[in-house]
Amino acid sequence: MPTFKAPETVVIFVLGGPGAGKGTQCGELVKDCGFRHFSAGDLLREEQDREGSTYGEIIKTCIVEGKIVPMEITIKLLENAMVKALQPSESGEVWEKGKGTFLIDGFPRKMDQALKFEEDVCQSSMVIFFETTLEVMKKRLLKRGETSGRADDNEASIVKRFETYESQTKPVIEHYAKLDKVLRIDSSRTVEEVHEETKTKIFEKLAKNSGN
Ligand code: ADP
Ligand code: AMP
Repeated sequence: MPTFKAPETVVIFVLGGPGAGKGTQCGELVKDCGFRHFSAGDLLREEQDREGSTYGEIIKTCIVEGKIVPMEITIKLLENAMVKALQPSESGEVWEKGKGTFLIDGFPRKMDQALKFEEDVCQSSMVIFFETTLEVMKKRLLKRGETSGRADDNEASIVKRFETYESQTKPVIEHYAKLDKVLRIDSSRTVEEVHEETKTKIFEKLAKNSGN
């Protein structure tokens, strides 16, 4: 049995190539709609830097090489973060309105982790797919690399990340498209334009899922 039950817990997977704008759009949705946002990449970088972590080295190598970190590590980090977020506050409220909706950003990047997460943690309600060209993504990543300090925002890592995206992550999107769970959004436009369309499509899908 999964730890969390859909549809009480709403899990929205957020996918797209590296630099497509996933983190940026999740930030907008948090501000606007009060959803919770967990980025697999951020959780992995945090774990990589945590003193005493047994996974530091393997995470570091995978990130620079643009490879998928073993799913056991990533799924556990996401599940822990969700459990922590849903613990009752001191006032006894489990979560405020909208806070039981999770944006799981940069996950699942590979088919095995998709199936394992849905089996062990929670069924997904929908998948947002931010779609743009490799040229746009590359340009954004190189610009971000001027200030991000990230070990993988450089030409060599970007090429490898694109390969992983094409070979491993695209099949995940195709899998969910067949289940009619994918909201495709052109993320080449401005942050505001992308956000407005994303928000509209999410609420339409939530209404559809609940039969309204
Ligand atoms: P991802 O999480 O998909 O890797 P980010 O949200 O970090 O991507 O965005 C990558 C870079 O592109 C960031 O520097 C961000 O500020 C910038 N960016 C994001 N969305 C847009 C947009 N719609 N137009 C222009 N730049 C954007
Ligand atoms: P991101 O911050 O989403 O750009 O991810 C940076 C890197 O973290 C990726 O290139 C992978 O090496 C790793 N990573 C992020 N998300 C996942 C995931 N779902 N599964 C495995 N590795 C991941």
